[in-house]
Amino acid sequence: MDPADPSPLKRFVLAKRKISDVFELLLGYVQETSAFVAETCQNAALEQIARTDQLDEIQAYTSRLTTIREVLARRHMKVAFFGRTSNGKSTVINAMLRDRVLPSGIGHTTNCFLSVEGTDEDKAYLKTEGSEEEQSIKTVNQLAHALHMDESLDAGCLVKVFWPKTKCALLRDDLVLVDSPGTDVTTQLDSWIDKFCLDADVFVLVANSESTLMNTEKHFFHKVNERLSKPNIFILNNRWDASAAEPEYMQDVRKQHTDRCVNFLAEELRVVDRDQASDRIFFVSAKEVLNSRMQRAQGMPETGERRRARIPRALGAAECISQSAVKTKFEQHTVTAKQIADAVKSVMEHVNIAAAEKRVLSLEDREYQVDRLEFVRNQLNLLTEDVKNKIKDITEQVEAKVSSAMAEEICRLSVLVDEFRSDFHPSPHVLQLYKTDLLKHVEEGMGKNLAFHCTDAVNASMQSSQKDMIDLLQPLLPPAVQSQIHMLIPSRKFDLTYDLNCAILCSDFQEDIEFRFSLGWTALVSRFLGPASAKRALMLMDQNFQVTRPLVTTPLAAPAPVAPPQDAAMTQEELMMSMVNNLASVTSRTSMSVLVVGGVVWRTVGWRLIALSMGLYGLLYLYEKLTWTTRAKERALKKQFVDYATEKLQMIVSFTSNNCSHQVQQEMATTFARLCQQVDLTQKDLEGEISRLTTKIQQLETVLSRSKTLRNKAFSIFFLFDLFTISIYQYDKATVQIQKKKKHTCAK
Ligand code: GDP
Repeated sequence: MDPADPSPLKRFVLAKRKISDVFELLLGYVQETSAFVAETCQNAALEQIARTDQLDEIQAYTSRLTTIREVLARRHMKVAFFGRTSNGKSTVINAMLRDRVLPSGIGHTTNCFLSVEGTDEDKAYLKTEGSEEEQSIKTVNQLAHALHMDESLDAGCLVKVFWPKTKCALLRDDLVLVDSPGTDVTTQLDSWIDKFCLDADVFVLVANSESTLMNTEKHFFHKVNERLSKPNIFILNNRWDASAAEPEYMQDVRKQHTDRCVNFLAEELRVVDRDQASDRIFFVSAKEVLNSRMQRAQGMPETGERRRARIPRALGAAECISQSAVKTKFEQHTVTAKQIADAVKSVMEHVNIAAAEKRVLSLEDREYQVDRLEFVRNQLNLLTEDVKNKIKDITEQVEAKVSSAMAEEICRLSVLVDEFRSDFHPSPHVLQLYKTDLLKHVEEGMGKNLAFHCTDAVNASMQSSQKDMIDLLQPLLPPAVQSQIHMLIPSRKFDLTYDLNCAILCSDFQEDIEFRFSLGWTALVSRFLGPASAKRALMLMDQNFQVTRPLVTTPLAAPAPVAPPQDAAMTQEELMMSMVNNLASVTSRTSMSVLVVGGVVWRTVGWRLIALSMGLYGLLYLYEKLTWTTRAKERALKKQFVDYATEKLQMIVSFTSNNCSHQVQQEMATTFARLCQQVDLTQKDLEGEISRLTTKIQQLETVLSRSKTLRNKAFSIFFLFDLFTISIYQYDKATVQIQKKKKHTCAK
């Protein structure tokens, strides 16, 4: 503020605008902070870094600031003048306005309050309470008349006088001066205070320096003091010219008045400190000031040295009023505003610190989770290889085990077959049933024996491998899952299924339980040529027999059919055999041949030996024929079956052991997959946790930066309020200097 500004009252208005702007800023800041804290409170992920009590606190500040803003919204300074009738209130106001605006000297014309404020219009007018009608007034007498004539005006109502700003510089500063009817003429002090005092910035008690302060005046200000906290009160001891007429008593009278007034302000009302109270007490002669100013305005010389000396003093009062109003009124608001800004700032600091701490914890937590995820991933890759090798080992073991057990069982097949008991009869139907039961017995028996030899061992090694797997994977799982990991292993006992399928495997088994004499032709051929060659030879012989027989019996019959292609591949030996057979066949079937041979033999060995041989041969035949019983047939069948099944089972040893190892591999792989699934879930949980923490950290960083910005904003608002306070004090000092200068001039 420029201290040289000649309009001291305008400073109040400007200061008010300035502080209103800063308050607007502060309110915006507090509202922004409130929204930020509300948002932070609602975010459950941030774990209460801003508390609801902090939100309530800030919201309370918002409403407090809104009220203050409304108070500050009044862009004028209202100075209300009180005092007994005829103390010179109207004259003081006129002196301040430098014109006779209000009627005076005739006692207060009505019991109304009169406010004077500026208008941009050229003409003066008045408005009565409850009416928007502008009643034109040209002179002060017209005003007095208008007030006097208006019967609708009630006691204690307000009449607003609008005076052209062009006529009065003071009114350009949005100053409103209120003249009151006189504290001695009313009994309605309370309603006055409600209506006119609550929004007044300055109270001026116009006292009469020719008398002492009256109780009615004091009583009024006591009431005002009860309703308002530290009202801004000044005392003008008017009519000082009367005392000045007796200069010898002037100092004593002045001291007497000053002491009483100081006592009233500092001790009774306690609105100001004793040492500052004297600054609020003035001795003026409003009538002289008014006359002097009006004469000067009309270009006439002022009347006398003594009177001129009073003018600066009255001016000083106006300046002091304005300055003091700015200081006391706004100082309080500034202090409140600073307290609010400080409280909000400290909330922001708390939030900032809490967010910073949470951020550090979350960063550490995230780092731990990332490390853990990395560890789990790497370990899983390593362990998968390890477990694959383990599964491979165990399957190989199982394969070897089953293979050797099956080999053993095949060796013991004859025992198993011998153990089989069932009704046997060579008839095809019974035989078929017998074979079916036998196959079932072998299937069951072998299965049982294999299970006895393998299952327990396989189960034991599987369980130990599964335990190894768990031990390896357990550290990768979270503790909660670790305790339940055993539930992932199937509780049922693992049973290998061998699937020998004997019924299908031996479906083409064909027994041969026909009687065959051991020295018979077929048996002998079999003995000498082996079973396979004998079979072929016998088949060939049968064919040749069928072909040659027509040749013998019917020589004219068609030639023998061409041999089938497979016969073409017959070996030399087989051809020889065929010829021998043909020959033998022919000889055995012709008695002639027998006789010839018998004759030759007869002659050679003699008939007794032949007869003995024939007898023995016959006896042997008879013996064999008799011992070829059903049991013998069953034994033969069992033996043939054992041979047949042994061959077939040997063929499926590798298939079965492979099948078993595959079962084990499946079981182990399933268990491992289940464990891996848990590890995968753990990985997913870790990834989820990491992303949750990342989001949380981002949110915390946003909170950090916003709380920091808002905290710093409080500093800038502080700075603005400080600037404002400094400007008041600067003005204070400047005013004091001006006053000193003026005093000095007067003294000269
Ligand atoms: P109000 O009833 O308090 O408004 O008093 P007025 O302003 O109407 O003044 C009452 C009378 O006192 C008028 O005749 C004024 O001329 C006179 N008066 C006002 N101020 C002074 C002053 O300073 N000195 C003297 N001698 N008379 C004054």
